[in-house]
Amino acid sequence: MVNSKSQKYSALFCYINQSRIPFLLLLSLSFIACQEDNEAPALPDLRIYLDRFEEEARLRGYDLDLSNVEAVYLDEIERDGEPSCGWGYSNYEGSGLRRIEISTAEDCGWQELSDIERENFFFHEIGHAFLNRSHDESRLCDGSPLSLMNSTTNIWRIYQESEEEKRTYYISELIDRLAALDQCIDYEEGWVNDSVFYQFTTEDDRWVFTSREGAYAGSVSSVDGSGGDRISMRLIPGSITEESGRWLRRINNPNIPERADVTLRVTMNSEQLTGPGAAISIRAFHAPVGERGAQTEEYLFLTTTENPVSGKLDNYVEELTIPRYSRSTTYIVLFLRLMAGTEGEVSFENIELVVQEE
Ligand SMILES: [Zn+2]
Repeated sequence: MVNSKSQKYSALFCYINQSRIPFLLLLSLSFIACQEDNEAPALPDLRIYLDRFEEEARLRGYDLDLSNVEAVYLDEIERDGEPSCGWGYSNYEGSGLRRIEISTAEDCGWQELSDIERENFFFHEIGHAFLNRSHDESRLCDGSPLSLMNSTTNIWRIYQESEEEKRTYYISELIDRLAALDQCIDYEEGWVNDSVFYQFTTEDDRWVFTSREGAYAGSVSSVDGSGGDRISMRLIPGSITEESGRWLRRINNPNIPERADVTLRVTMNSEQLTGPGAAISIRAFHAPVGERGAQTEEYLFLTTTENPVSGKLDNYVEELTIPRYSRSTTYIVLFLRLMAGTEGEVSFENIELVVQEE
């Protein structure tokens, strides 16, 4: 109950400051307060783990400076209405600050964790706050998490005190995702089949429709019998806009083999498009680490927007290929577009990512 005791202590401290208590009484009161505080296990200064991570990075040849990472204890953390035991911000409230929050709420049990358990958890938050990483649920062939950024296993115990080799791997992988290439990676989970990594179905609700000026209408529909789960878009008649309409889908940490060719393939149909037409794009991002932390940047942009298709589209197949995929990729974004000035409705079907291993 460090929590309640430290609150009592500060309440007492406030009381002393506000009243005119003789000096001697004040001394004895603060003595009692200190005694009481000594009974509770002290929370470690979180700087210990920041310094330790710097040292681990140094051992691997990285000169990282985490002095600007703010690390704080909070009585409780709530995000989107859900309690959380820790949070790592790479850009706290848009201020550019990298910040880690650790909850001392009893449910989180931070007080009862061992040093190595706290390290597991804190290094995971460094992954978010300093290395710009998101959760990665990929697994190794033995079923263990591929990364400390796993969120579905007990993230206090991804490696344990006696597992020095595992610890070495997980910290290396945190800094450089390519460290996983020396491991046996399980590619079975999350794939549609051997070559199709992703296929759109109406159950996938993570496609986002954007139409900045409200000029377009978008819809998702399932057509029985034709296997045609589709995404559609049309310019609302009478609307005028300089912007294209778009659907986009972000895929984090795609668990795709290194150096594979990854193709976005889409079948388009339209009764009639007039004007520039429809297009597809892919953007790929990575987050190379620098001295003051990782910077997320786009490293690849593929698009057919220079050459959109128009007119009557009868199962027209469009594709774009990421050549020699790199597992340093933190996320990719798929785009379906209707170019500005295009009238009519287009539907995108058989939206899939096909992987051809090297
Ligand atoms: Zn996390």
